[in-house]
Amino acid sequence: MILYRLRCTKGHEFDSWFKDGKTYERQEKRSLIGCPACGSSKVVRAPMAPRIGKASGKGGGKDVEAPAEATPAPAVDPQVAALARAMPREMRETLLKLREQVEKNLEPVGEKFAEEARKIHYGESDKRGIYGQTTDEEAEELAEEGIEFGRLPWIPRGN
Ligand SMILES: [Zn+2]
Repeated sequence: MILYRLRCTKGHEFDSWFKDGKTYERQEKRSLIGCPACGSSKVVRAPMAPRIGKASGKGGGKDVEAPAEATPAPAVDPQVAALARAMPREMRETLLKLREQVEKNLEPVGEKFAEEARKIHYGESDKRGIYGQTTDEEAEELAEEGIEFGRLPWIPRGN
């Protein structure tokens, strides 16, 4: 594609894209190019407007090349997002089966997991299997106290 600045016989200037120079010549000969302002098909190529010095006021008129803009950090690590999307089906199924096992055999304690795990560990509560959610901080504390627990990605059912 090539951009030509054209001018009709009445002096209207306009820009138009052409596949190449030959296409322009052919269309020009057949009067296929019309001025958008007056409809005249008598057009000639006008010299392209020079780019330098066109911007007024900014940067003292000097054509300074702008530094390449730094890409802002995305909210979600694209690598992680891609990894989640690319999670193999077998892995999803394994995780879902694990989730089913957990739900079938363990007692749900929800967000009180850390509290309950601690109680069980220190004998304040019956020894039993439980499952629930913890924050990363809680999980770290449990690990520091030597409380055994496992973590698994709680992936949603279905899609
Ligand atoms: Zn015109």
